[in-house]
Amino acid sequence: MIVGVLGGGQLGRMLALAGHRLGVRVRCFDPDAEACAGQVTELVVGDYGDTAALGRLIDDCDAVTYEFENVPIEAAAWCAERVETHPAITALAAAQDRMEEKALLRAHGLEPVPHMLVESEPQLREAVEAIGLPAVLKTCRGGYDGKGQVVLREAVDIPTAWAELGGAGGERVRLVLEGFIAFSREISLLTVRGKGGEVRHYDPVCNEHEGGILVRSHPAGEAADPAELDRVRAGVASLMAGLGYVGVLAVELFERPDGRGGGRLSANEMAPRVHNSGHWTIDAAACSQFENHLRAVLGLPLGSTRTICTWEMRNLIGHIPAAEELLSEEGLRLHAYGKAEKAGRKVGHVTVVGE
Ligand code: AMP
Repeated sequence: MIVGVLGGGQLGRMLALAGHRLGVRVRCFDPDAEACAGQVTELVVGDYGDTAALGRLIDDCDAVTYEFENVPIEAAAWCAERVETHPAITALAAAQDRMEEKALLRAHGLEPVPHMLVESEPQLREAVEAIGLPAVLKTCRGGYDGKGQVVLREAVDIPTAWAELGGAGGERVRLVLEGFIAFSREISLLTVRGKGGEVRHYDPVCNEHEGGILVRSHPAGEAADPAELDRVRAGVASLMAGLGYVGVLAVELFERPDGRGGGRLSANEMAPRVHNSGHWTIDAAACSQFENHLRAVLGLPLGSTRTICTWEMRNLIGHIPAAEELLSEEGLRLHAYGKAEKAGRKVGHVTVVGE
């Protein structure tokens, strides 16, 4: 069996590695000939608008998927017209636009943070009045790892925030102002849904970010309130069923200390793909998110999402420390992505596993 993957970064690479063990060929697609998946699997190099190159990706494929949410919709739709493509294009489209994403989350009972659409500086003033400060201004499209967002602390920040994200160029921009959540923890939920509608959840994960980049994940244990976790899981299952979703979905949540019982979960965003906060599943779950994603898109039975040992995951950002130093830590499993070192770039991760 062959699975085509739009994108050839580390997520494509880890899908390929999971595929090899299953006897599934994973073929990635990327505009960059140096994309790191190309070190471990077949890589088709081309622009997303190049249908001849996309044709080489989907040739003989049993299914197509994607490994980042900013894949141009047209490229994914072109593949979907020719080969079964999962997750659904509607999920990809919603994840590319923060307003659409929040509407979708809300429709399934996953309450997003307070927010308003902002398309002009006067609208930004109105939104600040309504939502209050501090607040976070974000581009609706194209942001990732904290890029495309500015925190507003005082009203005097309004003109500079607008100039930074909205003002330049005079083009129509869509921004969203969100209330700044004084969260107690950031939690993510990873769920896989098979073609037959079966849904399996991994245990919830607690994530720590620095400068908008995930640096460390560990088990969230009972997310503050088990009833709240059940409510959110039901919402995720309903969202996936509504979209006819197949594959892994990550939903990022803020745990709010002000909720009833002290742990209400508000939805921040979703990623219709395998996710950095699920890397631990390679070393500490019965079946990893990568293997389960492949199983799902190929219509194979899903694997167990059970956690099999204790774990902590740390991202290696910018550079990989000397192997002598890193590998001396007991229980540490290194995943190096074969990427050039660069400040702020995720170049690998480690999972430290225990009993
Ligand atoms: P995002 O790109 O929306 O995932 O934002 C990146 C990170 O910025 C999040 O993981 C949070 O740590 C922080 N952040 C984003 N939005 C908010 C918010 N409304 N309130 C507080 N922190 C936020």
